[in-house]
Amino acid sequence: MKSNIRSIWKRLQPVRKRNGNLFPDHDTLYHEVRETLVIPHCPICTLLQASTDERLGYLFHENVNDPGFREELRSSMGYCSRHAADAVRCGNALGLTIISRDLLMQFLHHTKRDGYGAPTEQRTECPLCVMEREDTHLYLYALGVALRESDIRTLYQNGFGLCLPHLEGIYGYCNEETAKWLAMCEERKMRLLMDELGEFIRKSDYRFLGEPIGTEGNAWSRAMEKISGGNIQRISDSFLMRHIEDV
Ligand SMILES: [Zn+2]
Ligand SMILES: [Zn+2]
Repeated sequence: MKSNIRSIWKRLQPVRKRNGNLFPDHDTLYHEVRETLVIPHCPICTLLQASTDERLGYLFHENVNDPGFREELRSSMGYCSRHAADAVRCGNALGLTIISRDLLMQFLHHTKRDGYGAPTEQRTECPLCVMEREDTHLYLYALGVALRESDIRTLYQNGFGLCLPHLEGIYGYCNEETAKWLAMCEERKMRLLMDELGEFIRKSDYRFLGEPIGTEGNAWSRAMEKISGGNIQRISDSFLMRHIEDV
C-alpha cells in the first residue's frame, strides 16, 4: 500500500475538524495501537470505544450549548441506541438533560405541526456512528501497518486478537505477507478457543461435574466477543459476578 498512516490521517483530518472531532496525531495513533494489544479484547473495538467515550466526555462537558453540536443532534434526532447508552455512561446529567429536552421539544413541535404519525423529516445518521466508521478505517490501517513489525506481532500473538468483523476488515489494509501471517495466527487462536469451548461442554456433562473449571469457564463470553466484537466480556464479567454472589 503506497500511503502511510501520516497521509491517511491528513486526509481524514478536515472531516474530523468539520465534526468538531477529537483525534490523536499519527504518532499517538501508533502508540495507542501498540498499547491496546496488551488488553484482553479486540484492539480495534477497544480503541473505538475509547474514542467514543473521550468524544462524548468532551461534547457533553464542553459543547452542550454549541449551536453546531445541537443542530447535528437535532438532524439525527439524537444517537442510535448503542451510542445513547454510551452517552448516558460518559455524559453528565445536566448536559444530557439539556440535550434530551431539546430533542423532545423538537419532536412535539413536529407532531403539532404535521399531525400524529406523520413521517419525520429525513433523519441523518447517528453522528457517532459516522465518526466511528472513520475511526475504524484509520485504526485498521494503523494496525495493518504496525503488524509488519516483529515485536508488534509478538504482542498480537499473546493477546486476544481481532474480533471477526475487524479481522475481515483488516485484510484490506494489510500487505500480502501480513495478511497471511494474520490468518495463520488467528486460526491458531480460534482452534485454542474451540478446544476450551469443547472442554466446557464436556465438563457440563453430569459425569464430569466434579472436575474443577479452569480457563474454559469464561470461554463462551470470549468466543461471543471474538465473533461479534464489542464489550461483551465486560458485560458477561458483571453477569458472572452477580451470579457468583447469588449462589
Ligand atoms: Zn473488534
Ligand atoms: Zn451510533
